[in-house]
Amino acid sequence: MLIDAHDRRITYLRLSLTDRCNLRCQYCMPAEGLNWIPHEAVLQDDEIVTLLETVFLPLGLQKLRLTGGEPLLRKGLPDLVSRIAALPGMTDLALTTNGIYLAGLAERLRAAGLQRINVSLDSLKPERFAEITRGGDIEKVRQGIARAVAAGLDPVKVNMVVIPGTNDDEILDFAEWTLSEKVHVRFIEMMHVGDRNFFEERKYVPVEALITTIRERHGLDVGTQPVTGNGPARIFQIPGALGTIGFISPMSHTFCDTCNRIRLTADGQIKACLMRPEEQDLLGLLRRGASPEEMQQLVRNSLGSKPEHHDWGAGLPIHRTMSQIGG
Ligand code: SAM
Ligand code: SF4
Repeated sequence: MLIDAHDRRITYLRLSLTDRCNLRCQYCMPAEGLNWIPHEAVLQDDEIVTLLETVFLPLGLQKLRLTGGEPLLRKGLPDLVSRIAALPGMTDLALTTNGIYLAGLAERLRAAGLQRINVSLDSLKPERFAEITRGGDIEKVRQGIARAVAAGLDPVKVNMVVIPGTNDDEILDFAEWTLSEKVHVRFIEMMHVGDRNFFEERKYVPVEALITTIRERHGLDVGTQPVTGNGPARIFQIPGALGTIGFISPMSHTFCDTCNRIRLTADGQIKACLMRPEEQDLLGLLRRGASPEEMQQLVRNSLGSKPEHHDWGAGLPIHRTMSQIGG
């Protein structure tokens, strides 16, 4: 069992399958992309399975989210998912995607053992979606979401990052989507761990303002529907709606008190806190032939850089963005 110095039990791993992406969301990446990690430095499928089996699962990290970059770009993903799902003790297997390639993969991922999925979608307007993502086709994402629901991935959540001045007029449209379809919308405050200049220009909308907007129009009950994997979200429901609405407020409230997560980057570095620069080279250790005990000790040591409360990385250089860490 992994417990940090502040008595938080660490049970949840966010694992990045690639730092590459087929989109360039304005808040996440510059238009020209980033310097990609060379292929030979990226975790191989066998390495991922070995690390889960011999390091993370024995330490009690039984909840896993596959992310990126864009995880659906990874070749042979359904095979990797089925190997991961077959590992004894893996209790929760989820994935976060931009949804562009989801329609063609949803059934295979579900059959391979993926349980649930989060799809990022920041606008319901095709032109605006293309502008935010710098070229994304919303139709593909809408089809992907429909196929994911039909394939039995449950819950299917839609992550909407609220961008002041761009999509903050669509809050009610997203909320009303939950009236007729079993989608679970999660509104997320925009963070500075991406394109810093874009964030400084726009800042963020505190979720309290969104809650007020929706409540005034429709009323909002505190969510009673059990939805797996809510993490730091506060969950509500419009009376009679099929889906739920959640609010994730990394900027206006931090969730450090209840943080149960660590991250593994696509090049195999452990990051105990999104806001801290410290990393531990787990893949390097594996490739040098270290024992499971040595690697487990490295993970334990990494918790030393997990602060009780972060300070937004004040004064620290941001040397990896969200897509490079596995947001
Ligand atoms: N490419 C996949 C996707 O977009 O869902 C997975 C990786 S992406 C980095 C994971 C999540 O981080 C997405 O929901 C995205 O909207 C969010 N994200 C990226 N940059 C962000 C920022 N600056 N503030 C808030 N959320 C951000
Ligand atoms: Fe790609 Fe996801 Fe970043 Fe958008 S948020 S650029 S889809 S990694």
